[in-house]
Amino acid sequence: MEMEELKYDIFKDGSLVKSVSITKIQPCMAEEGRIKLAMQLDSTLDQVMPTFASKFPPGKVNYIKHKKILTINIHERVITFFPSGKIMMMNTRDPEEGIEIITDFIEKINQSYLEHVSGDTGDDLSDKLSKIGPLNIYNCLPQTNCEECGTATCMAFSMKLLSGDSTLDQCKPLLRAENQEKLNSLNELLGDQLMRSLGWIGS
Ligand code: SF4
Repeated sequence: MEMEELKYDIFKDGSLVKSVSITKIQPCMAEEGRIKLAMQLDSTLDQVMPTFASKFPPGKVNYIKHKKILTINIHERVITFFPSGKIMMMNTRDPEEGIEIITDFIEKINQSYLEHVSGDTGDDLSDKLSKIGPLNIYNCLPQTNCEECGTATCMAFSMKLLSGDSTLDQCKPLLRAENQEKLNSLNELLGDQLMRSLGWIGS
């Protein structure tokens, strides 16, 4: 479908990205009746890509480090971010839904940029993502199989956590005083940023 670019101003004071344009709308081959959107941000992303990639559960992202291309499989759709600022979004109802979805991602990109310029993060986070497995997480959980998180075992929870189907805050026992040591080792394993990426909101 030929079209004129549709420009949306999202964050007037955004630290890196302020606007996004829809450059192409095509039928989505993956899902009948849905569209595929090509978008372009008003900034390149190469400098923030490693930090941005670390904001998602490892099981939901595929990050090609040497090309700085990030693909996220989330909310039943695949979204790919390129270092040039181009974005491809599959399985979308209409342009408005696409903009609503991308606004949340732009917020994360701008946060990533602020962290990047303040030196609060580094390339090691993307390396870390690929090295963490379910057993590493399991070793830092209470290991009681209490099911409070809605999952039958702590090992199953670890796997769901890494696939993005569970979040850390669902393990309430981690907040209890007797598990402080476990929580400390989890924090040591993941670091603050990955803790947040995996859904930790407790203190
Ligand atoms: S709530 Fe925590 S301790 Fe209980 S089963 Fe789930 S992961 Fe294990």
